[in-house]
Amino acid sequence: MTSDAWQRISRDVLALLLASSCPGCDRVGTLLCDDCRMLLRSDPHRSRTPQGLLVHAALRYEGVPARTIRRLKEQGATMLSWPLGAALQSVLHAQAREALIVPVPTSRGAFRRRGYRVPELLIRRTGLASHRVLVPARRTRDQRELGRAARARNVAGSMRARVHGRGAVVIVDDVVTTGATLDEAARALRAAGFTPVCAVALAATPRLHDTANS
Ligand SMILES: [Zn+2]
Repeated sequence: MTSDAWQRISRDVLALLLASSCPGCDRVGTLLCDDCRMLLRSDPHRSRTPQGLLVHAALRYEGVPARTIRRLKEQGATMLSWPLGAALQSVLHAQAREALIVPVPTSRGAFRRRGYRVPELLIRRTGLASHRVLVPARRTRDQRELGRAARARNVAGSMRARVHGRGAVVIVDDVVTTGATLDEAARALRAAGFTPVCAVALAATPRLHDTANS
């Protein structure tokens, strides 16, 4: 590459950095500040879905982790998949020994909007292999608009496995709220012969831990 080209790239990178702000605290001139990076360290905790599937989550979906995940999901900040993937890594490595890692499928609409599949991107950052076994079977409404019972109805029958198989599977999602999506993923996998052993999430909402602890 010529030195002119390097200079152009350096200028672009500098402009990008100067125009950036930390998703956690809005400090300008950084993609993620050191203080907020510390708050993305894995803090593993367990909970259960309504159907009883064990969920291991790396982060609590609140404060700095929640804001950082939203920027990755909604604002195209794919660079943030590196620190977030590092948080997922320890939990996923511990749970996925001998098991197939299957991400929750991304809806066609979300993929068109973002151009990437968040759970798959995060798994890739952990260095483990992701297997796209599940695909959307039909359209669903945005889960964020819905309450607990409506979420379960909204996702029921919304996924299918592309292949039949057997053996242990760990299901991976970015954010777990009620666990209804993970239950649907587990149902679709069982229908295709697999054995879902647990789920791993990058983050779980506090509401989900409350359910598990009560
Ligand atoms: Zn910050």
